[in-house]
Amino acid sequence: MMRKILVAGNWKMHGSKTMVRSLLEGLLKGSSMNGNADLAVFPSFPYLSLTESILSGSHIQWGGQTLNPNAQGAHSGETSGSMLADMGCRYVLVGHSERRSIYAESDVDVALRFKAALDTGLEPVLCVGETQEEREGGQTEAVVGRQLDAVIGSVGMDAFNHAIIAYEPVWAIGTGLTATPQQAQSVHAFIRDKLSSLDVIISDQLRILYGGSVNGSNAVELFAQSDIDGGLVGGASLTAEDFLAIYSAAA
Ligand code: PEP
Repeated sequence: MMRKILVAGNWKMHGSKTMVRSLLEGLLKGSSMNGNADLAVFPSFPYLSLTESILSGSHIQWGGQTLNPNAQGAHSGETSGSMLADMGCRYVLVGHSERRSIYAESDVDVALRFKAALDTGLEPVLCVGETQEEREGGQTEAVVGRQLDAVIGSVGMDAFNHAIIAYEPVWAIGTGLTATPQQAQSVHAFIRDKLSSLDVIISDQLRILYGGSVNGSNAVELFAQSDIDGGLVGGASLTAEDFLAIYSAAA
């Protein structure tokens, strides 16, 4: 099964109008539509409108970094899935490790957000991954399996027709430590096998991204693995040159 690679840039809490404009213009100038790879950016909420105005009608898509599970109401400071859809978002990250660790999002919270994303027509990118301690304790598959089960139990396997998974070992995010292509492939294969026991076709078509210090030098080998279908990129998505090097590796 040939799955189209997705190169997704999570800008986290970085940026300004000037930076967003120049980065997006750089990406538009330095990339073109490619049959083998999709390109997407995840700016902070205040820049979604600017992002939509610059990227509308182009080959680059965009998404939100999180969403509130409620449809609307008294949730000051929060953003709903329908608001993201209204800003032209195609995707939304759900369960990023920083949301899980800093903002205490539990597996149940993550499942609610995943469902809210689907209900509002967004494609959730479900982030899963173990900490260094969990890896050293031989718990990687148990942790990733538990994080997946919470979502599957809530929305069912069919929901993965319209979703993406990102395997992001917490110890590799923003640390400069990358999982080796073999380490990453082994967890990706575990994820696909697990889902394949529920639905072979959905599991085969599902895109599973790797995240954790992806850059222009390691991307080719990572993307060459049979179960790695792209990258969720933090640091290296903040400059057009670095991010485009990863997109070229995919294309
Ligand atoms: C991320 O933010 O999801 C990420 C993987 O960051 P980095 O590429 O900087 O490790």
